[in-house]
Amino acid sequence: MRKNIVAGNWKMNLDYEKGLSLFSEIVNMVKDEVVGDQEVVVCSPAIHLHSIAKLAEPVSNVAVGAQNIHQAESGAYTGEISGAQVKSTGANYVILGHSERRAYFGETNALLAQKVDSALANGLRPIFCIGETKDEREGGEVFDVIKTQLEKGLFHLSSEEFEKIVLAYEPVWAIGTGLTASPEQAQEVHAFIRDTVANHYTQKIAAETSILYGGSCNPANANELFSQNDIDGGLIGGASLKSRDFLEIVKVFN
Ligand code: 13P
Repeated sequence: MRKNIVAGNWKMNLDYEKGLSLFSEIVNMVKDEVVGDQEVVVCSPAIHLHSIAKLAEPVSNVAVGAQNIHQAESGAYTGEISGAQVKSTGANYVILGHSERRAYFGETNALLAQKVDSALANGLRPIFCIGETKDEREGGEVFDVIKTQLEKGLFHLSSEEFEKIVLAYEPVWAIGTGLTASPEQAQEVHAFIRDTVANHYTQKIAAETSILYGGSCNPANANELFSQNDIDGGLIGGASLKSRDFLEIVKVFN
């Protein structure tokens, strides 16, 4: 059975103390209120990772992740952080291929394939983001874009490696804009993603892959989105910075 996952992406927000206090609130609420077996993941800036991973340790369904890694193991890459370093903080996940990294930092599918390899080699589960821009949607290119991102970023992996991947469909036009994909629009792409995975790997692997939706997901729309057959949770930006909103989204799976 595939897992339901609600992951927060804090992006470049919260100083050290504020991050710790938000995370403590989340952990306490999960302990008190979460009754299902959904997994809660918080992807914080690197400064928080070690401390929040410690807070998450006693809580089995809460995990911590980074938002990016460098593809090399170590070396003269000033300002960068490696997969090995992230893993040493106690984190277990890393977001890779977020559209903000692709757009503002020039991350290509080929580079992302290397980052995925490094994450897996260091025991981190990638939350691999894919999604089309507004122009690509309007140009009728959604499925081509998604297929290329999957093929070039991930399909070099063996089946055993691919089983560690969590996918996140994040239509770029829906990120931080308040414009959510309708449940039908999201489901259509999620079903296409699952089919594409089934065609390259197997039906079984596709059926067991968690595919999250991201883009202006909030407590008011999460229920309808997560009820779709191929949507297994969310990657939450803005709403993950408010503990109550984030928990309401997590509790959709209760
Ligand atoms: P918002 O939820 O703020 O739209 O951000 C989504 C996102 O980019 C998560 O990675």
